[in-house]
Amino acid sequence: MIDPGHAQRLIVITAPSGAGKSTLIRRLMNEDPNLVFSVSHTTRAPRPGEVDGRDYHFVGEAEFDRLVAADGFLEWAEVHGRRYGTAREEIARLLATGKRVLLDIDVQGGLRLQSLLSALFIFIAVDGPETLRQRLMGRATDDPEVIRRRVANATRELEAGKSWPHIVVNRQLDQAYADLRALIYPA
Ligand code: ADP
Ligand code: 5GP
Repeated sequence: MIDPGHAQRLIVITAPSGAGKSTLIRRLMNEDPNLVFSVSHTTRAPRPGEVDGRDYHFVGEAEFDRLVAADGFLEWAEVHGRRYGTAREEIARLLATGKRVLLDIDVQGGLRLQSLLSALFIFIAVDGPETLRQRLMGRATDDPEVIRRRVANATRELEAGKSWPHIVVNRQLDQAYADLRALIYPA
């Protein structure tokens, strides 16, 4: 179990797909050497440019099943038809570095963690699903069917996000980044 004192160093970021979460997280990670990123396990295939062990631990269904059976995940969820999970070992290892740990977690996982531990829970929102569709098309890393599925899930996710302790609306990127920083580094 995570020591409650350590949990204060966890930052959990959640967003519907295409909201700009990865862009914002990349910026934070580049700027602050005292932040470490929790690399999740996933059964989805790597996108062009993604690196195993840096972006995700890319695993097959059997390996994911094994970790679930061994109670190896702090939480896991099926998201857009693929499975994603946060390994207990990963979080314990990162907390032991003494740094702040940043987790990228979907809505279901974010809700589950809110009931499990105290952390800084931040939701990255946009004005509506159409913005997400445009951004995912612009990113051009996913098939049209994958984009359709992600946008279809977004309305429900944006609704769920309204209950989050902290919300950053990503309209203009620099403003969203400043808002995010203000939450992570309060004056
Ligand atoms: P997520 O990780 O939430 O799925 P990304 O960070 O990959 O989203 O962003 C999706 C796309 O939208 C990327 O091409 C990114 O460059 C672009 N993007 C991010 N924030 C903004 C913004 N404020 N305005 C316009 N485009 C943005
Ligand atoms: P993507 O396939 O775009 O990288 O991620 C899809 C979704 O999975 C995102 O909402 C992301 O936050 C979520 N996700 C990534 N890792 C985890 C995890 O360990 N647990 C959960 N519940 N969701 C995750």
